[in-house]
Amino acid sequence: MKTIITGDRPTGRLHLGHYFGSVKNRVDLQYDYDTYILIADVQALTDNFEAPEKVRKNIYELALDYLAAGIDPKHSHIYIQSMIPEIAELTIYYSNLVSVARLYRNPTTKNEVNQKQELFGEKGEGITYGFLGYPVSQAADITGLDGDLVPVGEDQLPHIEQTREIVRKFNHIYGETFKEPEAYLSTTPRIKGLDGNDKMSKSLGNAIYLADSEEEITKKVMSAVTDPQKIKKDDPANPDICMVYYYHKLINNNVDTICAECKAGSRGCVACKRELVKALCDYLAPIQERRHYYEEHMDEVEAILKDGTKAARKRAMEVMKRVREHMKLDYFENNSNE
Ligand code: ATP
Ligand code: MG
Repeated sequence: MKTIITGDRPTGRLHLGHYFGSVKNRVDLQYDYDTYILIADVQALTDNFEAPEKVRKNIYELALDYLAAGIDPKHSHIYIQSMIPEIAELTIYYSNLVSVARLYRNPTTKNEVNQKQELFGEKGEGITYGFLGYPVSQAADITGLDGDLVPVGEDQLPHIEQTREIVRKFNHIYGETFKEPEAYLSTTPRIKGLDGNDKMSKSLGNAIYLADSEEEITKKVMSAVTDPQKIKKDDPANPDICMVYYYHKLINNNVDTICAECKAGSRGCVACKRELVKALCDYLAPIQERRHYYEEHMDEVEAILKDGTKAARKRAMEVMKRVREHMKLDYFENNSNE
């Protein structure tokens, strides 16, 4: 059976971007793959190092969201990155195989540094060693458990490419040790924000969360960007530039009728938004029901994390044994020095 390794940073709750960009794929694939889902707390600390309590709290939020979304602990291991020291060890060995210039060229890192000027300076001059290097630790996350397939959103492609480069270099120097993992994109690899921004993102504040209440969803959808040319209720409009239609399409709600009515001018934006609120609430209802169950059973969540972490650690230890042999770091094995 092939192995899936993927995960998210515990920096907040999961939103529709995460769900349609990658989590839904993991739910669908977990029955056919050995599935490991990483809660990347070490990576979250790279730009939240001053907020350890936020990261810790969000570990549980993320675990709840995974279980709510349909990640089945009988078929998937959910685990905590910082509890697998082998990943940190492998990151150090990998850091010799990547130039600093190569890390600066990574377009996703560049984008993120631009978004985090408060933390890293206007021109990114204050970027930390840890943040610049997080794609290297991501390579260790994936290969440290012998991952084959990585279901992720589009913004992660440069990181997977970086992982593949490291694997090739490692194998060339130390002998065949790792396979090159592959990204697995969904049919909707980049979900836009309600504000029309290219990406729905926690940091951009334009997200609908899986756990949002009807009230929150209503507030957000009512402010969503529609065709600016449509002034009056019965003006015809272009659904292709409307975020409300975009989300109707995403959850496959009454798409043909909405498109036709919008173009004909027989559908007002307010009614269309109300219909979207209802459709989203219906879509999210089973997810939220599962979340409520687990919120009432946090002891089960804790046990799931503990078991998942144990399984992941076991695997990482096996991989690191191989790595240490190939790197001639396997001291004191077989009592060879006695
Ligand atoms: P942050 O703002 O803290 O970076 P984020 O919303 O960008 O948060 P991440 O935790 O960085 O979320 O991303 C986790 C996973 O979700 C990645 O695989 C990423 O590609 C995917 N993802 C996040 N946002 C989207 C989106 N809008 N569309 C598709 N995939 C997404
Ligand atoms: Mg991100």
